[in-house]
Amino acid sequence: MDKGVYKRSLLKKRAEILTEGNAKPLNISSENNARQGDLADQASGNNEVHIQVKIKQTDAKILQAIEEALRRMEKGTYGICRDCGDPVAPARLNAIPWTRVCILCKEKQKS
Ligand SMILES: [Zn+2]
Repeated sequence: MDKGVYKRSLLKKRAEILTEGNAKPLNISSENNARQGDLADQASGNNEVHIQVKIKQTDAKILQAIEEALRRMEKGTYGICRDCGDPVAPARLNAIPWTRVCILCKEKQKS
């Protein structure tokens, strides 16, 4: 496995998220918690705000996953499923280089 390719993808994605200015997960989550009731009560109007908050939270999660993936690369455990210990399929790593679990374990999480 050529880990250099995945590492470059991870670093590129991390740079993208950071330059978009979305790396403020603490501010976003506290603001979101305070307003969650309001947003849930309103049928429409705040949809755009709601979606933006959601995207930022996703970015923060990905950012964390990227950091973890880079750490696993240093430890030599990158590309190994966290749950079952099997190697994660290269196609899956190409699509989501920061993934922690293989496709089978991911499916199990959903159900
Ligand atoms: Zn697995």
